[in-house]
Amino acid sequence: MPYKDKNKEKERQIRYRTNNRSKERARSKIYRNNNKGKVAVGKKRWKDNNQDRVNETARRYRAGKKHIIEDFSNEEWLNKLRDTFGLCPRCNKYVGIAHLELDHIYPVSVAYKDYKRNGAKRIYTIHDIQPLCSKCNKKKGVRI
Ligand SMILES: [Zn+2]
Repeated sequence: MPYKDKNKEKERQIRYRTNNRSKERARSKIYRNNNKGKVAVGKKRWKDNNQDRVNETARRYRAGKKHIIEDFSNEEWLNKLRDTFGLCPRCNKYVGIAHLELDHIYPVSVAYKDYKRNGAKRIYTIHDIQPLCSKCNKKKGVRI
């Protein structure tokens, strides 16, 4: 029975959903199948409004494939980028923020070798990465 009180009704709906997870999952699957266009539009709208989150998820996904853990948000990374004012911290040349690349100070390829040896994924926080211009990033290679 729905409540008249808005907050109580909301609570009831949340309670129902958590108590009937599999039922709800099946119901929403049917909804998604019958409303593919609507769902696609909604998905696209969310992606357009949350580009940061989309980038972050993609980055974490790629990190997972490389057997490392990236424990920082896209916002932290963007702040770090902004702090450079578009200057490469290594060669001090101005390349513009858009041309700075994310460099893992401890090389990912070495971290992967460590992982194969001891099974532990290396965790990269915001302090373990740096922006570099593509020239410096290529020059750095697998050196730390
Ligand atoms: Zn540089």
